[in-house]
Amino acid sequence: SLAPIKASGSIRSSPSRSSGTQMTHAQTKKRSQRAADNNQWEERQLMRSGAVRDKEMQTEFDDEEERKVILLVHETKPPFLDGRSVFGKQADPIMPVKDPTSDMAIISRKGSKLVREIHEKQSISKSRQRFWELAGSKLGDILGVEKSTEQIDADTAVVGEDGEVDFKEDAKFAQHLKKGEAVSDFAKSNSLAQQRQYLPIFSVRDELLQVVRENQVVVVVGETGSGKTTQLTQYLHEEGYTNNGIVGCTQPRRVAAMSVAKRVSEEMETELGDLVGYAIRFEDVTGPKTVIKYMTDGVLLRETLKDADLDKYRVVVMDEAHERSLNTDVLFGILKKVVARRRDFKLIVTSATLDAQKFSNFFGSVPIFRIPGRTFPVQILYSKSPCEDYVEAAVKQAMTIHITRPPGDILIFMTGQDEIEATCYALSERMQHLVSTTSGKARNLLILPMYSQLPADLQAKIFEKPEDGARKCIVATNIAETSLTVDGIYYVIDTGYGKMKVYNPRMGMDALQVFPVSRAAADQRAGRAGRTGPGTCYRLYTENAYLDEMLAQPVPEIQRTNLGNVVLLLKSLNVENLLDFDFMDPPPQDNIVNSMYQLWVLGALSNTGSLTNVGWKMVEFPLDPPLAKMLLIGERFKCLNEVVTIISMLSVPSVFFRPKDRAKESDDAREKFFVSESDHLTLLNVYQQWKANEYRGDWCNDHYLQLKALQKAREVRSQLLDILKTLKIGLSSCGPNWDIVRKAICSTYFHNAARMKGVGEYVNCRNGMPCHLHPSSALYGSGDMPDYVVYHELILTTKEYMQCVTCVDPRWLAELGPMFFSVKD
Ligand code: ADP
Ligand code: MG
Repeated sequence: SLAPIKASGSIRSSPSRSSGTQMTHAQTKKRSQRAADNNQWEERQLMRSGAVRDKEMQTEFDDEEERKVILLVHETKPPFLDGRSVFGKQADPIMPVKDPTSDMAIISRKGSKLVREIHEKQSISKSRQRFWELAGSKLGDILGVEKSTEQIDADTAVVGEDGEVDFKEDAKFAQHLKKGEAVSDFAKSNSLAQQRQYLPIFSVRDELLQVVRENQVVVVVGETGSGKTTQLTQYLHEEGYTNNGIVGCTQPRRVAAMSVAKRVSEEMETELGDLVGYAIRFEDVTGPKTVIKYMTDGVLLRETLKDADLDKYRVVVMDEAHERSLNTDVLFGILKKVVARRRDFKLIVTSATLDAQKFSNFFGSVPIFRIPGRTFPVQILYSKSPCEDYVEAAVKQAMTIHITRPPGDILIFMTGQDEIEATCYALSERMQHLVSTTSGKARNLLILPMYSQLPADLQAKIFEKPEDGARKCIVATNIAETSLTVDGIYYVIDTGYGKMKVYNPRMGMDALQVFPVSRAAADQRAGRAGRTGPGTCYRLYTENAYLDEMLAQPVPEIQRTNLGNVVLLLKSLNVENLLDFDFMDPPPQDNIVNSMYQLWVLGALSNTGSLTNVGWKMVEFPLDPPLAKMLLIGERFKCLNEVVTIISMLSVPSVFFRPKDRAKESDDAREKFFVSESDHLTLLNVYQQWKANEYRGDWCNDHYLQLKALQKAREVRSQLLDILKTLKIGLSSCGPNWDIVRKAICSTYFHNAARMKGVGEYVNCRNGMPCHLHPSSALYGSGDMPDYVVYHELILTTKEYMQCVTCVDPRWLAELGPMFFSVKD
């Protein structure tokens, strides 16, 4: 039976949560229902709707509480906006597509039917769980079959059904393809030192170092996999640049920073965190001896706050500049100034694509150094007609390749985690089918997912060689476009789509949406097939779509996302007029204005548009402006301890564990932590219980919690506490009175307030946008749903779902968000 969950002061109102005795799901439900009757909040709900009036209530609330509160909504604008429109009515969002009515744009909005079917067939968390198993060594056991050199006829149940993609052959190419060529096992049979010397960058090492010696800024261009990321830093170290100062290398992606630092530490035969380290938000794996530091561009950006001249760096390599991440773009402007001030500072900007002239021009026509490529030709095949369901098409194409083409690994580009998991799931199903219909003669296929939220040990698997010579099939997001290079890929399947963060002015927030990628990105994807030998790229879109519907280059992030953090940061760096900042491609004025408006709403900017005290303090925290605000409110409301925990829990992946074969048990376990007023408080409850149980791992197992995620939250928490300490902010606690915590949450998210419309249905108070309660929410199915809630963020999947929801009193909305709300007298 389950170990009793210790009843600390944190367990509120519901006896079912504090008693840890074993109960069936139905019992639990009933008990929490009954318990809810005693719940203050429930009572208030009832009272508000006029259903219950009893004496106890009268004593607790004064007369005015008896009236139903009527919330009035309005929009107030700060004077500095000078009458500009800021919400809803402004210019259309910047869409990173050429034509929203083109085939590709329409298909990307529709999404994949196969993914939806798999979602329905099995809850996605189930297939996720199943998939992680497949990604591991168990795959061989599940699908494992005798290796066979026999060609297997295409099975009609697997391929060849309706909708199969018909490709246009590229006749000129044929001669390059060698049938049955064995995959080079270079990495397996050579030492790390030999591998280093084999990289294209090695042949130009001395020339490159000379150009760096003679110039303060150099742009380095080289094909992905030529050795820019792993070798440049080491060359600079070998050349003595680390004798006075360190070499920093920025990455737009966290995964890349970690993975590359690990690889380089291996090449240099040093422990990670010793000579070579990395730093990402909330995680610093560097030490006093570290001379090569990989970090996200966000980390370096924050360092410029403390040390505007970046004195500890002798050289900064801005890697993956072609990616044009938001932080990289801001760093361009800031580092340009550092270069001017510090003669001893060197800057290297690297790019995988050829549009380097722009970078060179920005820094004053600096030299461009090109690393000669060593790539093989790639045959490009286009779909003859647009693919309605690119996931289905990709799965079929991968199976066709596996069955009919010579050895060589496959790389499939998908847009995100859900699609990747569905693809892997469908592939494994079809492999099972193939194995059973060919009486075990099918060759093994090792299906490997790759996306940023995947646990690190599973990510690392894409670099491993399968033991039994199985064919690898990597299903990745655009992280595999340029950030990570896997050798041995002979076949690329390009769906032509990618997820992009786009600011949606109507919702007033950034949303990840699927869009067609640019031609530059499509070419990068194709190039991945030609690293080890001549390869093939299957484009699941037409040649006309490539030529007419895709943009030549991607739209830089700075031109399409919320600039809240950037505005805050630049203001604190005393950039008074943001429209004057030296941007390579300035963001649209509307975006700047909008972000300033949001910062004003949060109280970070004054009526004249300058940083307030709150704003100055917010800059100190590596958090999005609303979360930073919550921290400061936690201080004011004297519930900082609780608020810091909630923020830490919001910063990590889900702590709830839901194995496929124990879905019901894990749901029951999860429900015991529910605080029916709030998902935020549920997270707080989980953390406090874990703490009360000495942060034990076995306790997590017993309660279906992810130990790793909780440990991460604990680390984030201690980092935030360190920052609070340096700011001399004391840690207050509100004890069991969690209503005040809800109020603190309300003070942060009142702009995301929603009003109940129907069961599980809400509408945003300010713009009437529909938003739904997610079935996994603690508020879901708890009988009466609260009239007013605030949410952490909106997730767009099949519906607009509110993520992390807390019930609030409408009077709090009026009190804390007077620019939007008031209460009718
Ligand atoms: P670039 O930055 O020019 O794209 P990299 O320096 O990232 O090139 O990669 C150089 C080589 O190092 C590639 O062949 C790649 O396969 C290998 N490599 C990089 N990271 C790892 C890793 N974590 N494990 C194994 N090999 C790696
Ligand atoms: Mg690189």
